[in-house]
Amino acid sequence: MIEVLSVTSEIYPLVKTGGLADVTGALPGALAPLGVSMRTLIPGYPAVTGRLETGRVVAEMPDFFDGAARLIAGRVGGLDLIVLDAPHLYERPGNPYLGPDGQNWEDNWKRFAALGFTAYELGRGLVDGYRPQVLHCHDWQAGLAPAYVAFNAPTPVKTVVTVHNIAFQGHFGWENFNALHLDFRAASEGAIEYFGGIGFLKAGLQCADALTTVSPTYAHEIRTAAYGMGLEGLLQNRANDLHGILNGIDTRTWDPARDEALAQTYSANSTHLRDVNRTALNERFELDDSAGPLFGVVSRLTWQKGMDMLVDCADGLVAMGGKLCVLGAGDPEVENGLMGAAMRHPGKVGFIQGYDEGLSHLVQGGADVMMVPSRFEPCGLTQLYGLRYGCVPLVSRVGGLADTVIDANEAAVEAGVATGVVFAPATEEALLEGIRRTVHLFAREKVWKKMQRRGMKSEVSWEASAKKYADLYANLLGLKRDDDQDD
Ligand code: ADP
Repeated sequence: MIEVLSVTSEIYPLVKTGGLADVTGALPGALAPLGVSMRTLIPGYPAVTGRLETGRVVAEMPDFFDGAARLIAGRVGGLDLIVLDAPHLYERPGNPYLGPDGQNWEDNWKRFAALGFTAYELGRGLVDGYRPQVLHCHDWQAGLAPAYVAFNAPTPVKTVVTVHNIAFQGHFGWENFNALHLDFRAASEGAIEYFGGIGFLKAGLQCADALTTVSPTYAHEIRTAAYGMGLEGLLQNRANDLHGILNGIDTRTWDPARDEALAQTYSANSTHLRDVNRTALNERFELDDSAGPLFGVVSRLTWQKGMDMLVDCADGLVAMGGKLCVLGAGDPEVENGLMGAAMRHPGKVGFIQGYDEGLSHLVQGGADVMMVPSRFEPCGLTQLYGLRYGCVPLVSRVGGLADTVIDANEAAVEAGVATGVVFAPATEEALLEGIRRTVHLFAREKVWKKMQRRGMKSEVSWEASAKKYADLYANLLGLKRDDDQDD
């Protein structure tokens, strides 16, 4: 058994602001059959401490980053957690990163340095009887852990950093350095220095034994200036240590045959039953029941996600006979634009502002098309849910979207391999053209149905990718996994 400690700021079903939580929530279960025991270190936000089914204090730290803290080992819904219970850092309402005013908490550097430091201490054997062999650190929030391992008192623990989105880098002022409890050599060797400040993600990428990101295409993209956001040089230097491992989805949580959030469950052999969900969706979004394709969006409403382009294409989409329902929250400008489109097109465009897990399932189960017009997309999960739910993806050809959807050009339709519509470049004109192609395909009922079913049967589970992570851990430890001959 390989012991891995996953270090993360989010985990489904406890705390989720995006795909990171889905991934960290699903990986432990996917790795268990592969000889990997994964526990998760997570900050003790109220949403976490309040939900623990069992809990045992395994460490007390009276003087910890300016307050008292303890570690609680506990379980929730099959997940093995180690909760960093530090009320002065985490006992705050709402979002894990933002205060009630929508601004980053000022002490985020300290809150997540504390997370990385604790991971390092666990790697050194802080808790009797528990010794992780690998720290698997997710995103900038866990980025300092490999720096502590590299520069503080030595420990044999290996480190992996996974980049879920290189746009979020955790960049803080140098004046915080002394409070990090990080050996001074980390500063002098420039390991954590980033544009004159401290770069948490940069530190992780520099110091970890292995790096991964969440799709093969994104692994290439982030080594280029167009997508690397300043870290491309570092990643070019570490290209041999960087692996693109595609995200899977939790096929138990996301299963149209058993999904309780749907008005009607269905499978690939009964896609006609989706009509019941479509009707429910029309009602929720106050749309009429006209026959054209219903385009769905479940997304953060940001520039990255191409949501400004979506606003600009809404009139065209309706003119082509489509309808649009959008569930999301984000940039006020995009929100206003969507409200405007809904007002201009009553019955054709619906917008629900906010975050609603249940409704996100209904969109997947009832809409005809799942739109993901991102400018960049490390992996993307909503197109994978779309595939599984027969909600045909319309995506831009970037990152994980390019790796997971096969465009329905005539050759692919002929060959019987198409699973969606892929457009490029990520511009408004190309998106509009993608919408046009989708509307035409939708009208070819037989072709559409086949494509829908093919998507529902395509492989989107964690199985293949979990093996890649298991192999990576084993390689770092110089071990051979038992089922390697099957790979
Ligand atoms: P990202 O992590 O960049 O936001 P992903 O596609 O990887 O994008 O993951 C987004 C996750 O968040 C998906 O599980 C998606 O269903 C969910 N999600 C996004 N916006 C909403 C929303 N407004 N309501 C419910 N779920 C949402």
